Amino acid sequence: MTSEHVKCLIIGSGPAGYTAAIYAARANMSPVLYQGGQPGGQLTITNEVDNFPGYPDGVQGPQMMQDLEAQARRFGTDIRYGLVTRVEFVELPSPGNPHRAIIDDKYEITADSIIISTGATAKWLGLPSEMRLNGRGVSACAVCDGFFFRGQDVVIVGAGDTAAEEASYLANLCRKVYMLVRRDEMRASKFMQKRVKTAHNIEILYNTETEEVLGDDEVSGVRVKNAVTGEERILDVTGFFVAIGHKPNTEIFQEFLDLDASGYIVTEKGSTRTNIAGVFACGDAQDNVYRQAITAAGTGCMAALDAERYLVTLEMQGEEIVH
Ligand code: NDP
Repeated sequence: MTSEHVKCLIIGSGPAGYTAAIYAARANMSPVLYQGGQPGGQLTITNEVDNFPGYPDGVQGPQMMQDLEAQARRFGTDIRYGLVTRVEFVELPSPGNPHRAIIDDKYEITADSIIISTGATAKWLGLPSEMRLNGRGVSACAVCDGFFFRGQDVVIVGAGDTAAEEASYLANLCRKVYMLVRRDEMRASKFMQKRVKTAHNIEILYNTETEEVLGDDEVSGVRVKNAVTGEERILDVTGFFVAIGHKPNTEIFQEFLDLDASGYIVTEKGSTRTNIAGVFACGDAQDNVYRQAITAAGTGCMAALDAERYLVTLEMQGEEIVH
């Protein structure tokens, strides 16, 4: 198998990965970044991004990712297509015993430091109509897209803390929010439940499942069914938000890294260090609370700075071995 050694390998190409690349490249770490299966990450399936500081008129998600990529290239990041299919992290990395990553099952990279920015994937219901209208009234991020539905009626699906939090967020912007809960109770914390139950413009529909999102080019309604009575009805809404959880893209690391119960990479408080020296995690792969482009970018910067400091100690270790 062909092999190559790099100082800094970045896995993933969302705002976290590209920001890590900008900082790492400027610090002479010669980063190599593999873009993964969805170059640009979750923002490439978003329309307008209005809440990323520095864009007074907003920016299209795909455009923002192209800009970030161009900025990372400008400082010399080696950006490549390809998927990291396997990793082998070592307990005590040293210049002679580095971490390994296999690209597309056929190419080996050994690395002094690795920054993981593989992100998370929003879960969807899996309805054809939901996919067809994605980005045209269907969204998995109320904080990103809620603003476009000011004064309108919307649906949110889900009954966990995220759904409750996003329902409250939407209730501040929209005229009415229907919250579809598939069972006869919610999973969200008592506090969050109280918040949605007491909001004057949130109507919670229990035992309710989505049959179809209606609309040709944009969402114009949602057909729902009561699982107990079998009764169907159409909700007259223009927005359809799905908040049924996220899945962090961390499977390939689970053998080596500490993950929480939901699969998010555990990092040391206030840093991006994982339980393995020389391996750092940033962005949504390690964040199930904030999950914003700006917070992902912030932790990407932290990861590059953490990796830079780590490389200094590794270099000193190498010099000691030589002398
Ligand atoms: P959760 O997994 O906690 O909840 C997912 C919700 O979606 C559940 O209510 C589930 O229903 C529902 N659901 C799943 N699949 C479907 C489906 N096909 N149709 C309809 N409903 C469906 O995910 P969250 O994103 O809400 O939270 C993830 C973690 O992050 C949790 O630990 C949460 O506490 C935490 N969090 C904390 C916050 C905070 O502290 N401020 C904010 C947001 C999240 P069911 O209950 O029937 O399984």
